[in-house]
Amino acid sequence: MNLRIPGPTPCPEDVLQAGARQMMNHRGPEFAQILRRVTDGLNWVFGSSTDVLSYTTSGTGGLEAAVVNTLSPGDRVLSVSIGSFGDRFKNIARTYGADVESYALEWGEAADPAEVGRRLDADPTLKAVLVTHNETSTGVTNPLEAIAREVRARDRLILVDAVSSMSSVPCPVERWDLDVVVSGSQKGWMVPPGLAFVYMSERAWAANASATMPRFYFDAVRTRDSLQKLQNPWTPAMSIYYALDRAFELMRAEGLEGVFGRHEAIAAYTRERVRKLGLSLVPVDERFASNTVTAVWWPKGVDGKALSKRAREEFGVVLGGGQGKLEGKIFRVGHLGFVSQEDVREALDVVERLLDDARVTA
Ligand SMILES: *Cc1c(COP(=O)(O)O)cnc(C)c1O
Repeated sequence: MNLRIPGPTPCPEDVLQAGARQMMNHRGPEFAQILRRVTDGLNWVFGSSTDVLSYTTSGTGGLEAAVVNTLSPGDRVLSVSIGSFGDRFKNIARTYGADVESYALEWGEAADPAEVGRRLDADPTLKAVLVTHNETSTGVTNPLEAIAREVRARDRLILVDAVSSMSSVPCPVERWDLDVVVSGSQKGWMVPPGLAFVYMSERAWAANASATMPRFYFDAVRTRDSLQKLQNPWTPAMSIYYALDRAFELMRAEGLEGVFGRHEAIAAYTRERVRKLGLSLVPVDERFASNTVTAVWWPKGVDGKALSKRAREEFGVVLGGGQGKLEGKIFRVGHLGFVSQEDVREALDVVERLLDDARVTA
């Protein structure tokens, strides 16, 4: 199978083997060493000089942790949403009682940093901004560094969903002065689902001290205090830590610049190939097209769902579909984590062949 959805992503064989290791005491010295090495790896990739927290949950759990650990019911929050994951982040905040103002864009567009600044100026009570770095549903990467600058200049908090960007494209949390940044293991980290990673800045920890949204499992203080003893407060997904320990060795061997460069090159190849097929990208402005997932409109009159089914059943290529209002209208090619140009070439060869078939029979 050529699994080309934007997560879960394929894992290297020896990473999977590392995950198959026998269980040990999750509060013992052996696991403590693994947790230390994995946390060092996370700090390295996030660009953090303080320990990044890890939770046994999926990316959405990480987003929930970000919200409940820094906000209180009734807090005014600006949601910047450019697609379905932006909407999810907003809904989590609403569910816990935040008073959310919505800056929502057409799907395919990127957010305008100046507009974020204007909205914050217009309402000084807005305490925090929720923003998606890489919107996986539309294949658009927001200009996060510029957005962060606007937020920072007005001294509000910036909470970032970097689930499908961190580890694949640059997102240095300290250099960009971000406050809470979330990622998830099954996207660019070359390991299976099961862990979410959460960075918190000094400002985020200060906000945490007075944040009153309810939290128990995701309580960041409990998690940080346990991490200081090199433990998790609850039983962690140990197999994913084993796997991640090995994945970091591979990432260190390639180097962060190498990893980012590979994603950039494969993404450029993917877009070039899509153009040659005569198809159009979902991102309206190609400058914001994602380096981890490419979203493409099916041509008018083509039954996208049927073609995806054929790709899977006849050729073993699993494409991502459209989410929400894009269902059946687009396909997505994931190119993050353990991916080579060859993987994408093979997938797009199949798309080309199926489109040719569809055109002949139309
Ligand atoms: C995958 C993803 C998530 C989280 O999804 P889970 O299924 O909970 O892991 C959140 N945001 C973005 C941008 C994603 O790509």
